[in-house]
Amino acid sequence: MCVRVERLTVKHCDAVVVGAGPAGLAAAESLASAGIDVTVLEAASHPGGRAWSERWKGYLLETGPHTFRGESEALWGLLERLELMDEVEAMDGRAARYILRQGRLFRVPNGPLDFFMSGLLSPGSKWQVVWGLMKAGSLEDRSVAQWMERRFGTEFRRSVIDPMVGGIFASDSENLDMARAFPKLWQRTGASGRVLPSVLRSASTGGGRRGVYALRGGFGQLAEAVASRLGSQLHLAEPVSCIEVGSDGSYHVCAASGAVYSTH
Ligand SMILES: Cc1cc2nc3c(=O)[nH]c(=O)nc-3n(C[C@H](O)[C@H](O)[C@H](O)COP(=O)(O)OP(=O)(O)OC[C@H]3O[C@@H](n4cnc5c(N)ncnc54)[C@H](O)[C@@H]3O)c2cc1C
Repeated sequence: MCVRVERLTVKHCDAVVVGAGPAGLAAAESLASAGIDVTVLEAASHPGGRAWSERWKGYLLETGPHTFRGESEALWGLLERLELMDEVEAMDGRAARYILRQGRLFRVPNGPLDFFMSGLLSPGSKWQVVWGLMKAGSLEDRSVAQWMERRFGTEFRRSVIDPMVGGIFASDSENLDMARAFPKLWQRTGASGRVLPSVLRSASTGGGRRGVYALRGGFGQLAEAVASRLGSQLHLAEPVSCIEVGSDGSYHVCAASGAVYSTH
């Protein structure tokens, strides 16, 4: 195990992960499962990063994500290894969702008929969306806003995509990279591909579990389960202040407490 040592004293270990959010915990768990000696340094007093849950007057409050999509086999594997499969709950994908616009609630369409009946978009924008399914994009389309707007128009981007990505990523579509925000769609179409042929291709090939899922006890459960598996390899309230690369390629990770965690 990598242990705390005096500043600038090198102590060998295999890997140091900075941050115990979902990314850091997933990386650390798979490294530990592969027998690699890993240390995780987390600035906050709890693991999970944004994926954390609080209890308030008997209610479960998710401070960040509250659902996950079922396509990731890696995530199912993690849930199985952590014995959390009984905690997984399938969400009703057809449950009504609403977008608030100019003081009015609009139901998000659930299918083609719903889409044409919806008051969320003007008739012109609806036809632009249909036409956009066959329209090629441009290699310059890197952000979610550019990618969506070139195909489906400004109204669709502002009225549907912006509230949707705001809810998922707590960011705006101009600042989100399409390849990272929607990796599957990006893999199928790239910057310039057409949406409809790639969606039809993926529907016929299938693959992965469909649907949206939640954890009964909240996402904090997942973080706590990984944290308990990592045990003393996870250091909470240990913010990293610098990372130095040694002349031999080793990493020296300095914590604000003055401790240094070093890899080979
Ligand atoms: C309101 C909201 C709702 C969301 N809903 C969903 C959803 O429903 N489904 C979904 O899949 N995703 C959702 N997301 C996105 C999801 O939360 C993020 O994709 C995910 O948390 C990213 O994980 P991460 O590990 O990269 O970063 P983070 O979760 O941000 O974790 C980073 C960790 O690194 C630590 N850290 C940072 N700097 C240092 C340092 N110097 N030293 C040590 N530690 C450090 C932080 O304290 C933190 O714990 C939502 C996000 C928000 C904000």
